[in-house]
Amino acid sequence: MDLSFTPEEQKFREEIRAWVKQNLPNEISHKVHNALELTRDDLQNWAKILGKKGWLGYGWPTEFGGPGWTAIQRHLFEEETALAGAPRIIPFGPVMVAPVIMAFGNAEQQKRFLPGIASGEVWWSQGYSEPGSGSDLASVKTKAERKGDKYIVNGQKTWTTLGQYGDWMFNLVRTSNEGKPQTGISFLLLDMKSHGVTVRPIKLLDGSHEVNEVFFDNVEVPAENLIGEENKGWTYAKHLLSHERTNIADVNRAKRELERLKRIAKSEGVYDDQRFRDEIAKLEVDIVALEMMVLRVLSAATSGKNSLDVAGLLKIRGSEIQQRYSELMMLAGGAYSLPLIREAMEAGWQGDFPGGNPALAPLASTFFNMRKTTIYGGSNEVQRNIVAQTVLG
Ligand SMILES: Cc1cc2nc3c(=O)[nH]c(=O)nc-3n(C[C@H](O)[C@H](O)[C@H](O)COP(=O)(O)OP(=O)(O)OC[C@H]3O[C@@H](n4cnc5c(N)ncnc54)[C@H](O)[C@@H]3O)c2cc1C
Repeated sequence: MDLSFTPEEQKFREEIRAWVKQNLPNEISHKVHNALELTRDDLQNWAKILGKKGWLGYGWPTEFGGPGWTAIQRHLFEEETALAGAPRIIPFGPVMVAPVIMAFGNAEQQKRFLPGIASGEVWWSQGYSEPGSGSDLASVKTKAERKGDKYIVNGQKTWTTLGQYGDWMFNLVRTSNEGKPQTGISFLLLDMKSHGVTVRPIKLLDGSHEVNEVFFDNVEVPAENLIGEENKGWTYAKHLLSHERTNIADVNRAKRELERLKRIAKSEGVYDDQRFRDEIAKLEVDIVALEMMVLRVLSAATSGKNSLDVAGLLKIRGSEIQQRYSELMMLAGGAYSLPLIREAMEAGWQGDFPGGNPALAPLASTFFNMRKTTIYGGSNEVQRNIVAQTVLG
């Protein structure tokens, strides 16, 4: 296994770095570096900048308009954008549904849906989870009944991230109750502006509006929006989930946040405390170990070897690390990091903050928000079960 980068890869990294420096708006990177709230416009603005360059679908092959980068190049792109303070690419379109459309959609669907995803114009949402169907996803009940050239969809999805912005939604729907639960699921693309779709906010612990409930009341969906074959949706859903879980590991964001943790610890005078520095050192070691794991996977992929099915492992480790750095930031700020002030998440907020250090103001919100990471994308407990079965045997 060779983990060092070739001169060509180093050159590629420098090219990406220079381009990002020139094209990432300062007000967006300022927000990211200081954990301030990104608006829909911020997220879509960056998506469109990438889209124009042909890099929003940075993992796509050239035949679908992507750059056709190697796994290493994709990693370098992710690292350079994260360290520069670019927002995470909202994954639902380019990272999740696009690979499914490429692998299982027909030519007409590929022509119709991929360009809007690649350009960042169309916002996608993920309609997997339902009340009672999260870990046990195969039990989804949202029903799609075929009537002529349409499906009539009735039911409810939940936890739909940023569904309030959604133009389109990919859904797991039940098209049959015969046989095993997995065999009666289909993968349906649904226009969220259709009659009968209602999106309702769920307020989170940190006061933010990030997730939603989505209700379908006799929603008519053209049958041409079915991906692949009816009742084969479970296979397509699993293809998508491995992309989702690898994406959640987000080691590059962890590297950026480690630096923020060090800045906060220094400004609060705890960086010189040996025991606190030990905690930072332990975190740093775990981040490097996660990076090594990512690079091992990339190295195996590049040399054509089969790598272990480690998406679940990356998800577990990455999400735990995200929670740990948010906890250590809170500890560094001590009592001053406790107040939960939503407005302090807005750029330019001038309110009073106890302790006077505005860098501490978003900490409580971030800490609460990070509780989600070990739940979403498949809870860590369930990932451990999967790892036990598929990796450990
Ligand atoms: C912030 C956030 C954003 C999300 N965004 C989306 C989205 O955009 N689209 C979408 O479709 N879904 C989304 N989800 C849903 C997410 O995928 C589910 O919450 C997750 O899969 C867990 O399902 P559940 O909430 O139904 O919990 P449950 O499945 O009810 O689990 C409850 C608890 O039991 C444990 N548990 C369950 N089964 C087992 C088992 N077999 N062994 C051991 N422990 C078990 C779980 O680990 C968990 O601790 C989001 C969730 C969150 C929190």
